[in-house]
Parts: sequence; C-alpha cells; structure tokens
Amino acid sequence: MQKPDLDFVIAALEKIRETNDRLPRASRNKLAQLTVARAQPVRAGLAPDASDRRQVTPSNKEALLAPIRERVSACTKCPHLASSRTQTVFGVGNPDADLMFVGEAPGFDEDRHGEPFVGRAGQLLTRIIKAMGFAREEVYIANVLKCRPDMPAGAYGNRAPTPQEMQTCRPYLVEQIDIIQPRVVVALGAVAVEGLLGTRGTMRELRGRWHSYSGVPLMITYHPAYLLRNQSLSEKRKVWEDMLQVLERLEKPVSEKQRNYFKE
Ligand code: SF4
Repeated sequence: MQKPDLDFVIAALEKIRETNDRLPRASRNKLAQLTVARAQPVRAGLAPDASDRRQVTPSNKEALLAPIRERVSACTKCPHLASSRTQTVFGVGNPDADLMFVGEAPGFDEDRHGEPFVGRAGQLLTRIIKAMGFAREEVYIANVLKCRPDMPAGAYGNRAPTPQEMQTCRPYLVEQIDIIQPRVVVALGAVAVEGLLGTRGTMRELRGRWHSYSGVPLMITYHPAYLLRNQSLSEKRKVWEDMLQVLERLEKPVSEKQRNYFKE
C-alpha cells in the first residue's frame, strides 16, 4: 500500500470511528498501528532495515512489534506446525531491551503457555538473567521458530527444528531484532546459532567469544537445557563466564561476588 493510500485509509477509519457507533469500527489499537505504519517507509509490510533505523524510537517499538505478532499468530507457512501447535510463541519482554536472548523453538510448556522459556530450562534461564542483575521483564526473549516442532502421536519430549523450518520462520526473528535493536544478542545453543547465522559448529568452537549478527555483538553460550543435563560446576562456570562478557559489553557493573559465581 502506498503512503497516500494509507493516509486515505487512516482518515476514513478515523471518520468512521468518530461518526458511526455501528460495525465496522476501527479500534484505537488498529489506528495506532496504521499511524505507526504511515511513519515507516513502505517495504511490503516489513520492518525497517538498517538505513531506516532512525524511524524506530523506544516509544514506538511495541507498536511496531504488534503487527508482526499478529502475522505470526495467523501464520501457516509450515502447515504441519500450524496444525499441531496450541498457539504461536512470539517473544516476551522489554521491546526496548539492551539484551536479547534467542533460543531455538518452543517446547511442550511454551506451546501451552504461549511464552518462550517457561519450562525447566526457562526457569534456569530466568535465574541466570537475575544473577546478571536484570529482571526477566527487562530483557527480551524469543526463539528462531515461533511454533513448537511437531512430535509423532504419543511421543514424549521435544524435537529440534529442521533447517527448513528455521529458514521459513527466521524472517520474523529478523524483524523483531531490527525493531528491538538490542545492544547484545545471546544465542542459546548450536541450533539457535544455526537459525541466526546459518552456520553450523560445535559449541566448543562457537561459545565464549564474540560473533556478529548484522552488526550486533552476538555471544554464543550453552542452552540452559544443556546445564540441566550436565550439572557440573565447570559447565555452569563456562556459561557464567560468557554472561560476564555480556555484562562487560553492556558496561554493567559486576560485583566481586558475581565475578566469582561457580568458581571451583
Ligand atoms: S514455525 Fe514460523 S513460519 Fe512456520 S508456521 Fe510457525 S510461525 Fe509460521
């Protein structure tokens, strides 16, 4: 839709809203979304690219994310996942977060609750976030895939998303990151890395050092589910050292006590 057309639609909806109390009506939310869209360059409904970033402000990020959330909730690009999911799992947290965590896909619990990282692994992630000195609500948490990977009938547990599924869903994550503009992204596990960067590698090679996602510093660390399987202090310390690097990058003060967590 061209901008003059959008102006016309907004003016018509505003008039309907003011003069007609019968359906069809324009909700205040829809009008706000259209108004934000009018302020954006027209790119087939996509989020602004790097050159358009001045258009995103801390106060309009929520409004910019809302239409993407709506598109995700109606998405059927992976018909097998659209038919098996309870609901889509878009993301949660502060739309203006400095720090963003990206996992691979919703599991059983996330599919039920519609929120990423709420199962056992999610609770551990929340503890890690708190140990870093943040509230869960202060950061943003999302997955590469917005639907739970389907499982054979009667099968227990979760499966990793396929490369094809991640490639199909990835554009939504790209839009989220473009709008949130975090100062640091943390990728949780090798599957999330593959979804974000399109590269495969072992966690031994990938974690603990800085990478870059579209110019945003990217730290790679173990998925919290790995720490649930491997409870050794040394593995916890590795994740914590990765998070200390993140805190330093964010110029957040680190206490001596924090610095020594999980030391042998
Ligand atoms: S996984 Fe992503 S692309 Fe596939 S149906 Fe769900 S929301 Fe759409």
